[in-house]
Amino acid sequence: MRSSAKNSLTHLETKEPKIFVISGPGGVGKGTVVAELLKQVGNLWLSRSCTTRARRNGESEDAYTFLDEEAFLNLVNEGKFLEWAKFLDHYYGTPWPEPPQGSDVLLEIDVQGARQVLEKVPERAKLIFLMPPSPEAQRDRLTQRGDSAEHVEKRVKEAKREEEAGIFMADVVVVNDEIGKTVAEIAGIIRNWRKS
Ligand code: 5GP
Repeated sequence: MRSSAKNSLTHLETKEPKIFVISGPGGVGKGTVVAELLKQVGNLWLSRSCTTRARRNGESEDAYTFLDEEAFLNLVNEGKFLEWAKFLDHYYGTPWPEPPQGSDVLLEIDVQGARQVLEKVPERAKLIFLMPPSPEAQRDRLTQRGDSAEHVEKRVKEAKREEEAGIFMADVVVVNDEIGKTVAEIAGIIRNWRKS
């Protein structure tokens, strides 16, 4: 009896969407990679995260669900997040995903969040960890985005910690040297994982 209940649960679980996690240090180009993947790979659904940080100048209103801390922590207490983390003074969290039927989930999150997703749904989640070609390239990207010099330095430092943890946990590590190549490589990886 126990074993048939377990079998049917396993069957249900395999019908659940897969969760492809893109992680990597700030300034590695995760956002661009994700936008291109959505164009090139069908049936991928991007989750919208909640955050307590303020919207950046020029950032789209729906880049995140922007919340104050109280509202965010209420959602935490209500168990509304698949994962959440504090990253450089602000909270970020992924609501339990509800993709349309037939779509897999794409998450763009930090390493702490990636760890939680892999722990909570190991049978469904795969982690692609992006690395910058060099610390200089990463610093340039952060600076171009308008982050302050102080913030850029904080994030480059943070990146070292993230990289160690990310490489250790990742199913695959991809160096984002040239965007076209990176996206083609990840699209291929996702297609292969879908077959398994
Ligand atoms: P930013 O403030 O630059 O948009 O994001 C800062 C960091 O938070 C990035 O590494 C980004 O990938 C990560 N992040 C964005 N959304 C989430 C989320 O829902 N959960 C976690 N854990 N990290 C997130």
